[in-house]
Amino acid sequence: MSTDSPRHRVVVIGSGFGGLFATKALRRADVDVTLIDRTSHHLFQPLLYQVATGILSEGEIAPATREIVRRQKNVQVLLGTVEQISLDERTVTHSMLDKTTVTPYDSLIVAAGAGQSYFGNDQFAEFAPGMKTIDDALELRGRIFGAYEMAELESDPLALDAWLTFVVVGAGPTGVEMAGQIAELSRRTLKGNFRTFDPATTRVVLLDAAGSVLSMFGDKLSLHAQRDLESRGVEVQLDAKVVDVDAQGIVVEDAEGRRRIEARTKIWAAGVAASPLGRQIAEQSGAEVDRSGRVAVNPDLTVGTHPEVFVIGDMMSLDGLPGVSPVAIQGAKHAAKQIKARTKGKPTGQPFRYRDKGSMATISRFSAVASVGKLHLRGFIAWLAWLAVHLVYLTAFKSRVTALMHWAVSFVGRGRSERTSTWQQVSARTRLQRSEGELARAAAAAHAGSGRSEGAMPRASDAPQSIGGDPRRTAEPLPK
Ligand SMILES: Cc1cc2nc3c(=O)[nH]c(=O)nc-3n(C[C@H](O)[C@H](O)[C@H](O)COP(=O)(O)OP(=O)(O)OC[C@H]3O[C@@H](n4cnc5c(N)ncnc54)[C@H](O)[C@@H]3O)c2cc1C
Repeated sequence: MSTDSPRHRVVVIGSGFGGLFATKALRRADVDVTLIDRTSHHLFQPLLYQVATGILSEGEIAPATREIVRRQKNVQVLLGTVEQISLDERTVTHSMLDKTTVTPYDSLIVAAGAGQSYFGNDQFAEFAPGMKTIDDALELRGRIFGAYEMAELESDPLALDAWLTFVVVGAGPTGVEMAGQIAELSRRTLKGNFRTFDPATTRVVLLDAAGSVLSMFGDKLSLHAQRDLESRGVEVQLDAKVVDVDAQGIVVEDAEGRRRIEARTKIWAAGVAASPLGRQIAEQSGAEVDRSGRVAVNPDLTVGTHPEVFVIGDMMSLDGLPGVSPVAIQGAKHAAKQIKARTKGKPTGQPFRYRDKGSMATISRFSAVASVGKLHLRGFIAWLAWLAVHLVYLTAFKSRVTALMHWAVSFVGRGRSERTSTWQQVSARTRLQRSEGELARAAAAAHAGSGRSEGAMPRASDAPQSIGGDPRRTAEPLPK
């Protein structure tokens, strides 16, 4: 597909729920689509916690994007991190390693999603990874199973307790799922695996600054979820704000003051920040951004005075809609429909109407909560509904079959098929961030020395050019 194509050119940024469904919805349209993402896969984020806790493999929830759209001849998939969007020139600039590409568009769909927010305390990230990407899930898998390996080596009881204490920050669906799964790991899966301690003595703490668990499900389901977690051994601490995190533990502030929890493994499942591309678009279009960096879109999902630019999914702010996959999928279909109408010379600008199909969250094996309109389900029946919905929405047929097999292993049996983890998975993020920081500092020093005034700041593509270089080359020690 050449860039001087006479057909209408649609650029889609992001191959997540929004980007992929928009691309698919343009299947029969008389347009050429360029789908750009910094990863080569589509990610089913709702099941990341199962990769982190050894139930599913990363391939099952993250199939290759080009494989998904292989039969859709009007699509080209490009690997690249979008760095610049020019609304005036109608171009998108993206880079991968040392290759920078400028892709022009007639219509643009921006679906770059959201990342983790540490509420201004980004230094917490080193010790409390979030869970947004496959890298995050694999790092957490390494940290969780690695903590038990360290515990087997420990003879000091206080140090042992710290290895066997897991703190999950954020009692939304992701935090609840993680806490429930770690409790299940410790009580069922790891039974009999260790000789010097009993994994069932694991302490799982679920913290939240708010006063309830799964608050979006209403009081009844929220209370049910909290009791269910507690019955499975999870310690729920509410109205508790995290004020510091380090390698050895976490400091919490509540009505009784500050206290410290010694815990080697911390997981951050609180707070989201929309892609920084949102601010770029807002600055150029005059649209507003909210506190999470989401772009206030027009009712038809376009921005400012740009009927050719759509912002959808977790990046958009409209009528208080939540950052969930149905919002991204339905928004994607709406944007695609608008583009199709435009290319056919039909009227456009119809407002987006969201159909709420309800929400659900699992607590642990055979237990979930679901809220569909006035219907509130909990326990096994809600879990069955969860199972059915996730099977339907898993992207590839092969993934559905293998996921079902892995669920049988984990839920009917007590095993976990995907416990493999490597030292590189655990350490690479910290190493890369440090080496990027060093590069930035070196470039800033060189810039100051040479008296250059602009253009000297390093970019991600200035980082080491090999994929998977040896992280152990960095001299600084890793956090313990
Ligand atoms: C752990 C977790 C659990 C969740 N559970 C549920 C659930 O149970 N139910 C539910 O409905 N929703 C759930 N969600 C929310 C749901 O996944 C999101 O609402 C949905 O993915 C949003 O779709 P999106 O297309 O806006 O963004 P995403 O799906 O996040 O896709 C964004 C894409 O953009 C790419 N990207 C980002 N920046 C750039 C860039 N600069 N250049 C190129 N590419 C870029 C990313 O690589 C990614 O592929 C969960 C989310 C998480 C993190």
